[in-house]
Amino acid sequence: VPTRLTVAPVLPDEVFTLNAAYFADTYPQKVSLGVGVYRTDDGKPWPLPVVRKAEKELAEDDDLMRHEYTAIEGDIAFLPLAQDLMFGFTGQQGEEEAKARIATVQTVAGTGANHLGALFLAHHMKPPTVWLSNPSWANHMTIWELAGVPRKTYPYYHAATRSFDFDGMMSTLESETQEGDVVLLHACAHNPTGLDPSKEQWIAIADLCERKKLFPFFDSAYQGFASGSVEEDAWAVRYFFNNKPDMEMCVAQSFSKNFGLYGQRVGAYHYVTNRNATAIRDVIVNNLCHLIRAEFSMGPRIGCSIVKKILTNDELVADWHRDLQVMSSRIQSMRHALYNELVRLKTPGTWEHIIEQNGMFSYTGLTPKQVYALKDKYHVYLLKSGRASISGLSQKNVAYVAQAIDDVVR
Ligand code: PMP
Repeated sequence: VPTRLTVAPVLPDEVFTLNAAYFADTYPQKVSLGVGVYRTDDGKPWPLPVVRKAEKELAEDDDLMRHEYTAIEGDIAFLPLAQDLMFGFTGQQGEEEAKARIATVQTVAGTGANHLGALFLAHHMKPPTVWLSNPSWANHMTIWELAGVPRKTYPYYHAATRSFDFDGMMSTLESETQEGDVVLLHACAHNPTGLDPSKEQWIAIADLCERKKLFPFFDSAYQGFASGSVEEDAWAVRYFFNNKPDMEMCVAQSFSKNFGLYGQRVGAYHYVTNRNATAIRDVIVNNLCHLIRAEFSMGPRIGCSIVKKILTNDELVADWHRDLQVMSSRIQSMRHALYNELVRLKTPGTWEHIIEQNGMFSYTGLTPKQVYALKDKYHVYLLKSGRASISGLSQKNVAYVAQAIDDVVR
C-alpha cells in the first residue's frame, strides 16, 4: 500500500550528527569541539556543584506537589525569578511599573522560547521579514521557516579580519528593513562567531531599531556563562529595556548553559510591551498560553525547581556565581592556551581572534577542507563553518589540537 505521505529528506542537524560520529570514533586521542556543552579539564560533563546541592535539598523536601501539573504558563513562582535575572530587578520600590510591561511564560528551554516567540509573532504581529545575523545559530533559520515568516540575513561576520561587521549590519538594517520587521539579536556570546557588539554599538543598534520601528528579538542563551557575570551578559537586553520604553521587544531565555541543565529544558519567553500598552499584558500571556496548551500544555518541572531553589537562596546564588566563574574562566584560559600554542608553532595566519572572541565558541577561520582534514587525520571534530567549542579543549589536548591545526593550515 503506498504511503499517503510526501516527505523529502531534510538535512540532518550537523551538531548532533558530528557528536554521534565523535562517540563512534575509537581513536584514543579524539577531541570533540562540536557540540556547545561545558566540559571539565578531564573532558567530563560538570553538573554544577550548586545544582547538586539544590537537588539534595529538593530530594529531602516532602513536597507532594513536585510531580503535579503546573499552570499553563509554567511554574508560577519561577516566572518572576526568570524576569529578575534577565532584566535585573532587585526588589526595589518603583520597579512595578517596569515589570508591568513584561508578559512571561515558561518554555521548553531556549529553543522552545525561540519557537514560541516566533509562532506568537507570526500569528499576532505578522512581521514582513525576520532578519537573522549571517551567520547565526542554525536552528534560528529552521524555527522561523516553520513559523512561516520570510527570512533575510544581515551581515555580521567580516571574514577577512575575522571581526564583527558592525558597519555592514547597520547599513543593511538601515537601508533594507521595513517597519515591523523582526531583528534577531544574540544577547551575548554570539553563536557561532563569539563576536559581540561593544556597548556603544549596542546603543546604536537600539537607536536604529527605535527609529526604523523594528522589533528586537533577543536570544539569551549564555547569561553569566560568557563573562562569568550575569549583569555584564545581560547588559544589552537591560539597556534596550530601560532606555527604550516606547519600543516593544522580546527575549528568549535559556537556563541550559548557565545552570548546566541542558537536558532538563528550562527556559522562559518574555514579551515586553511598550509603556503605554501594559493593559494588554495579560491578554498576551493568555494568547501565549493558548499556543502552549496546544503544543505541550506546560513546561517541565524538575529543572525549574532546581533553578528556583538556587535563585531564592542567597547562599546558593553566591555558589552559583562561583560556578559561573569556574566555567567562564576555564574557557578563557583554554582560548589563551590554544592561541599561545599556535603562536609558539608559528602557525601561518593570525590567531588573535581566538582570544578576542567571547563565550563558548570560536569561529576559527578554518576552511571546510581544513576542518575535514582535522577530523580525518587527527580525529578533531568541529563544525564545517570552522566553529570550535572551546570547552572541548583541555590542558591535556590543547597542544595536540594546535599541532593538528598547524599541520592542516600549512
Ligand atoms: N540560542 C542559541 C544562540 C544557542 O546557542 C542555544 C544553545 N545551543 C539555544 C538558543 C538554545 O538552547 P537550549 O534550547 O538548550 O536552551
